[in-house]
Amino acid sequence: MSTEKSTSSTDQLTFDNPVTRHPDITPPEQDQPKPGLDAELVPQTDRGQTSYRGTGRLQGRKALITGGDSGIGGAVAIAYAREGADVAINYLPAEEEDAAGIAEVIEAEGRTCVRIPLDLTEREACDEVVAKAVEGLGGLDILVVNAGHQTWSESIEEISDEQFDTTVKTNIYAMFWLCRAAVPQLEAGSTIILTSSVQAYSPSDTLLDYAMTKAAMNTFGKGLAKQLAPRGVRVNIVAPGPIWTPLQVAEGQPKDKLPKFGKGQPLGRAGQPVELAPAYVFLASPESSYVVGETLNVNGGADSP
Ligand code: NAD
Ligand code: MG
Repeated sequence: MSTEKSTSSTDQLTFDNPVTRHPDITPPEQDQPKPGLDAELVPQTDRGQTSYRGTGRLQGRKALITGGDSGIGGAVAIAYAREGADVAINYLPAEEEDAAGIAEVIEAEGRTCVRIPLDLTEREACDEVVAKAVEGLGGLDILVVNAGHQTWSESIEEISDEQFDTTVKTNIYAMFWLCRAAVPQLEAGSTIILTSSVQAYSPSDTLLDYAMTKAAMNTFGKGLAKQLAPRGVRVNIVAPGPIWTPLQVAEGQPKDKLPKFGKGQPLGRAGQPVELAPAYVFLASPESSYVVGETLNVNGGADSP
């Protein structure tokens, strides 16, 4: 599917109006089976393929990004490579098509892309993802916990045990297992970045289980940050607002809400994945050396604590 001119900004460092920097999209009603593919999304998103430049801020770093095949994680993977890092991306086996697209952009920069298709809902898989990243990259300095599971439900009675379990396993257990496996690998100067959500403090009535996990991620990240700070390992969190990604069309939102997605933000539009990437670059770079246990909100102007 072609990249619509629509969603792309021309260059990351151009000063322009944030209201119109990316278009106010009105996505058609659509759905995809989980986990959802960027390749099938209408309109296509801007993951920085043509607009993210990079200024050498992560030269020689080794990063593992879960959910690095698409959406926010895909944009972070591209940005990290353009900043000079080698990148391992983890994703589900059904997402090979998206992963191949991101790997192509990373390799075009002359950087390594290690592809690790594994389901994170089992501890053994989380251990294996970290081990494969360390082996493929020759070490690890940056862990971005970004994979997430979101399924909307009209009422609490519709949330099955199976859904609740998958949401908590993907968003909380995997975060814990990945961090626990990665910590012994991280030397001073390394960073962990978790992906929370505006849902952590402003939960939708249709996302009870998901929103709860995102609040837990904020709290876990702040506690872990205190524990690891004396070792020189910084932990921070990014909390995105409504960002146009495949998560939303793969049962992430009621279909009839998609055309209005993100229009209620003060900026009046949904965000594009590329607009998240600089937050993850900042938190991984030495420039943020005194930023510890922070939740950086990138949400188009929604309230945050
Ligand atoms: P996305 O669908 O592009 O990315 C989510 C990724 O999670 C998938 O690509 C998939 O690889 C991964 N994943 C899901 N279940 C997995 C499993 N069991 N094992 C391994 N990987 C698994 O969507 P996105 O919106 O870019 O999501 C990235 C993160 O951003 C998620 O944590 C999401 O909760 C968070 N977030 C998104 C938004 C938004 O509006 N899009 C807002 C706030 C937070
Ligand atoms: Mg994906």
